Amino acid sequence: MPVCLVHIDRPAVTQCKTCFRPLCSKCVIRHGRETFCSVQCVDGLMQSSGKIGHHLLHQRQDRQESAQTRAAVLFLVSLIALLFVLLVL
Ligand SMILES: [Zn+2]
Ligand SMILES: [Zn+2]
Repeated sequence: MPVCLVHIDRPAVTQCKTCFRPLCSKCVIRHGRETFCSVQCVDGLMQSSGKIGHHLLHQRQDRQESAQTRAAVLFLVSLIALLFVLLVL
C-alpha cells in the first residue's frame, strides 16, 4: 500500500494526475474529476492539454493550406494543358 509522501503515516488514497505522486486524503486537490497534489500540477495539466488543443488546431490549418496549394497547382497545370492544346491545334 503506497503512503503519502508528505504524511508517511497516512495511506495514499489516490495519485496526482500530472506527476503521479501518491496522495493522502489531506493532500489531494480535486479539479473536476481529476486529483492533483498541487495547484502547479493542476496548471501543468491544463497547460499541456491546452498545448495539445493548439497543436491540433495548427495541424488543421496546415492541412487546409496544403489543400489550397494543391488546388492552385492543379489550376496551373490545367491552364498549361489548355494553352498546349490551343497551340497544337
Ligand atoms: Zn503533482
Ligand atoms: Zn498527505
